[in-house]
Amino acid sequence: MKIYDVTAPIFEGMPVYKNKPEKQPKLTTVTNDYVTESRIDMDVHTGTHIDAPLHMVKNGETFETISLEKLVGYCKVLDVTTVNDRITKEDLIHFDIQENDFILFKTKNSFDDAFHFEFIYVAEDAAIYLAEKRIRGVGIDALGVERNQAGHPTHKTLFGHGIIVIEGLRLKDVPAGEYWMVAAPLKLVGTDAAPARVLLFEQ
Ligand SMILES: [Zn+2]
Repeated sequence: MKIYDVTAPIFEGMPVYKNKPEKQPKLTTVTNDYVTESRIDMDVHTGTHIDAPLHMVKNGETFETISLEKLVGYCKVLDVTTVNDRITKEDLIHFDIQENDFILFKTKNSFDDAFHFEFIYVAEDAAIYLAEKRIRGVGIDALGVERNQAGHPTHKTLFGHGIIVIEGLRLKDVPAGEYWMVAAPLKLVGTDAAPARVLLFEQ
């Protein structure tokens, strides 16, 4: 059985949102003769991570409210690598998207190792379309599911319909198709996101 690890590696100097230095993880290592202990200081939106509604909704639900049942199960990787700028409803209507699907978008972003200010994102009309389809979750290979949309309507539409949002996937090596997904976030309590290891198992 083939396993795809679609998680971004975490290290100092890794790609972070808008290349903001304060978003870089900081690793401090203390060592004596033989004992080594490292401490990591990082944003909960570092690398591959899952957002909770609190991220974009005032008094929204926090991370521990997301059940594993929503994060483990079948998913569909859709190839939208020909899409420029943003994914619109128009780009999605010819795909087979069903209720309870977890949709992962493989875009040009997966071929970019550095942070790209013009990353491909999910436009508001596509988010509304996905909400109407009653999908379970959406994942994208960018550090944000949207950019340059006043009021963050994509996040709000998805959260408003209980749709899980995974950001920062690495899908370059993954062909379009159906996979068994295990998205295992750190078990953080009270936060607006959590870093996650995400694995796709080929059928
Ligand atoms: Zn995030």
